[in-house]
Amino acid sequence: MNISRGVRAVAGAADFDLYRPAEEHEMLRESVRALAEAKIAPHAAAVDEEARFPQEALDALVANDLHAVHVPEAYGGAGADALATVIVIEEIARVCASSSLIPAVNKLGSLPVILSGGEDLKKKYLGPLAKGDAMFSYCLSEPDAGSDAAGMKTRAVRDGDHWVLNGVKRWITNAGVSEYYTVMAVTDPEKRSKGISAFVVEKGDEGVSFGAPEKKLGIKGSPTREVYLDNVRVPADRMIGGEGTGFATAMQTLDHTRITIAAQALGIAQGALDYAKGYVRERKQFGKPVGDFQGVQFMLADMAMKLEAARQLTYAAAARSERVSIGTGKGSDEQLTFFGAAAKCYASDAAMEITTDAVQLLGGYGFTRDYPVERMMRDAKITQIYEGTNQVQRIVMARNLP
Ligand SMILES: Cc1cc2nc3c(=O)[nH]c(=O)nc-3n(C[C@H](O)[C@H](O)[C@H](O)COP(=O)(O)OP(=O)(O)OC[C@H]3O[C@@H](n4cnc5c(N)ncnc54)[C@H](O)[C@@H]3O)c2cc1C
Repeated sequence: MNISRGVRAVAGAADFDLYRPAEEHEMLRESVRALAEAKIAPHAAAVDEEARFPQEALDALVANDLHAVHVPEAYGGAGADALATVIVIEEIARVCASSSLIPAVNKLGSLPVILSGGEDLKKKYLGPLAKGDAMFSYCLSEPDAGSDAAGMKTRAVRDGDHWVLNGVKRWITNAGVSEYYTVMAVTDPEKRSKGISAFVVEKGDEGVSFGAPEKKLGIKGSPTREVYLDNVRVPADRMIGGEGTGFATAMQTLDHTRITIAAQALGIAQGALDYAKGYVRERKQFGKPVGDFQGVQFMLADMAMKLEAARQLTYAAAARSERVSIGTGKGSDEQLTFFGAAAKCYASDAAMEITTDAVQLLGGYGFTRDYPVERMMRDAKITQIYEGTNQVQRIVMARNLP
């Protein structure tokens, strides 16, 4: 099956069952899995070891229209629904977590434009993204504003028909590689979160520069850098939505994209479980495969149980995300905020446990870089931290109990 046609076939299937992917979604999974195993998996260990951007993955994803599947068809995209997007990210993360941040962060960076941008802004920036000519990053965090993102200091000051931006954004995924950046900045310091506005900044804008790549525990193939804004003048029509609406847009975006981090966690955990399952069949101790021991079987049963519970919650969250029509930003699901946070929190905690158990099941071999499970364990950790730590997810859930 042609993969991009597969994505299109799924597009618009908003009436998919709340908890189970339809047949088209499963066909999409098969196609993406085959592509990921053939084109992305062979480079995953080297990408991690050398901490380099997974260019092979980007090329393969662009060639198959899988780099930004969420972009609506009206802007030249594949128009995949939220569940199809989850499945794409899950299958890429199953072989290489760093590569899965290509479709995931393209969605994170561009969703503010999709949700709140005007028609001209959408046409200008979503077209190149859909074509694979440009990637999008999301700039909310700062050195002194992480969990308390509304405490940001980056300033935007009006100057005629331009805004002038100054500040430092920290931990920006795919910074330096992306052409476009959604930047949240303070336009009215008196109003705290209601005085924050969102802008599209281009890599080529004068005054934009980047810090050195962070040296990280995991997702080493995904560049994480500071973005410096030094008197960057952007035309006023690059503001996303109205003045003072940037923080609300940033939070609405996270309601949808925390589900993609849950998807990444599911994929990493599935990769570790699949590897461990195969290993325990081959590895012999006491004259038989270690998988014959009940102690090992119970571990695998728990891993599979946690993974499936996380998957069901993530797919239920994706269905809620889909009810809020991404193309128009209209429609609502009052439980989306809770479900997005719950899916991200639960799936990432499950991924950390499952990958740690996978290392355990490989014994001493699991602790070495000769086997992929230690990479998966290191990669899983970030899913408990970004797009809000899991403590923050619990705050969000507590404030939005169903
Ligand atoms: C690899 C990587 C990629 C990232 N990519 C991006 C990106 O593309 N764009 C972007 O904008 N940001 C990005 N981030 C930033 C990320 O979202 C933040 O690191 C995260 O939100 C936490 O902020 P912090 O690191 O400042 O931790 P802090 O906010 O300083 O938190 C420190 C500790 O205190 C806890 N804590 C804080 N407040 C509370 C509270 N009220 N109650 C209980 N516990 C609390 C936290 O849970 C954490 O354990 C990325 C981070 C990393 C590491």
